[in-house]
Amino acid sequence: MRKTVLFIEGDGIGPEVMKVAQPVVNRAVEKAYGSERSLEWKELLAGEKAFRETGEYLPQSTLDALRGAELAIKGPLTTPVGKGFRSLNVTMRQTLDLYACIRPIRYFEGIVSPVKHPEKVDMIVFRENTEDVYAGIEYASGTPEAMRIIDFFRSELGVNVDVTAGVGLKPMTPKGSKRLVRKALEYAVAQGKSSVTLVHKGNIMKYTEGGFREWGYEVARDEFGDRTVTEKDAAPGTDRIVVKDRIADAMFQEVLIRPEQYSVIATTNLNGDYISDALAAQVGGLGLAPGVNMSDTLAFFEATHGTAPTIAGQDKANPGSLILCGAMLLDHLGWHEAAALIHNAMNRAISAKSVTVDLASQMEGARTVGCREFGDILGSLL
Ligand code: NAD
Repeated sequence: MRKTVLFIEGDGIGPEVMKVAQPVVNRAVEKAYGSERSLEWKELLAGEKAFRETGEYLPQSTLDALRGAELAIKGPLTTPVGKGFRSLNVTMRQTLDLYACIRPIRYFEGIVSPVKHPEKVDMIVFRENTEDVYAGIEYASGTPEAMRIIDFFRSELGVNVDVTAGVGLKPMTPKGSKRLVRKALEYAVAQGKSSVTLVHKGNIMKYTEGGFREWGYEVARDEFGDRTVTEKDAAPGTDRIVVKDRIADAMFQEVLIRPEQYSVIATTNLNGDYISDALAAQVGGLGLAPGVNMSDTLAFFEATHGTAPTIAGQDKANPGSLILCGAMLLDHLGWHEAAALIHNAMNRAISAKSVTVDLASQMEGARTVGCREFGDILGSLL
């Protein structure tokens, strides 16, 4: 079986880490399946390279190709500074309706973490990516738009909003919430996970965050009724997926105190933003974390770090995030053996303390290696 992966190498350190990541992923596939399975990488242009070659940062041909694709992966992209430029990432997310942002968080032995038992963290966050306060509907204090909205609230709804307030809208729909929770449940079923936790702030924002909770439970009941059970109804040792919910502030405590009780997390846009970075920091791996943005048809993997312009072109970048994106892609295809080889190699390389400078500078007795050498080490450990 041969699967096509579209790739955008990215700006800054993007080309370096992509060049190192691809052979590691290819080698893992070859090691696991010989010539029976393979990946075919096809480049798409975006970012500075696209601008140099076509005069556009995000050519229409790239968007068209992504629209028809199943798998893609990208390095980080610089947001061009200047008027009239939107973030390329945001444009792609919106144009391709990549509504689920998914980040797995796990610990690698040897990484310095601020908590006592980082190894107990093994979670995956499904963050809604299109709604909530990120919809960008906001008006500054004192503007005519803000005044009109405040006036409407006062005169039509009898709600007393301070006239000097900046105002924003937090739209959340049953459709947007349900499709996100559905993705999380599908994942939990496919990967044999024990629980899905809906994280929300519904005690305060009853009809948005509270709606998310309610719609989430509805999907679990109506579409996964034979595979799931609510926490309240779960018998000890049940083999069904336990669907539970937690209020966001309590969840931040829970993941520190009882991380082993949580597996798949499904949450709203803003909560998801906070909790995925907090969890990544908890395992000491902000720079190592992989991620994927998904629509109903496309899984678009991306390194979660930026373009790191100060170290670009110096063979210092850590290719770990993109390599772990590759492992995620393999898991997504069901090629678990190859993904496990990568995780195992990453564990061994980090435990052996042969790492790039970003990690080496935090570890005692580590040997600093370059981006390419780190890739070679991983390749030899597969
Ligand atoms: P950054 O992630 O590029 O850098 C933050 C710090 O982490 C720097 O010290 C950098 O050297 C280091 N770092 C990041 N990735 C590393 C790696 N793989 N190996 C070793 N060290 C690494 O964040 P920033 O400085 O805020 O942003 C720089 C540029 O990246 C901006 O143009 C921003 O728009 C863009 N950006 C893109 C994405 C994306 O495409 N997904 C995400 C974040 C930032």
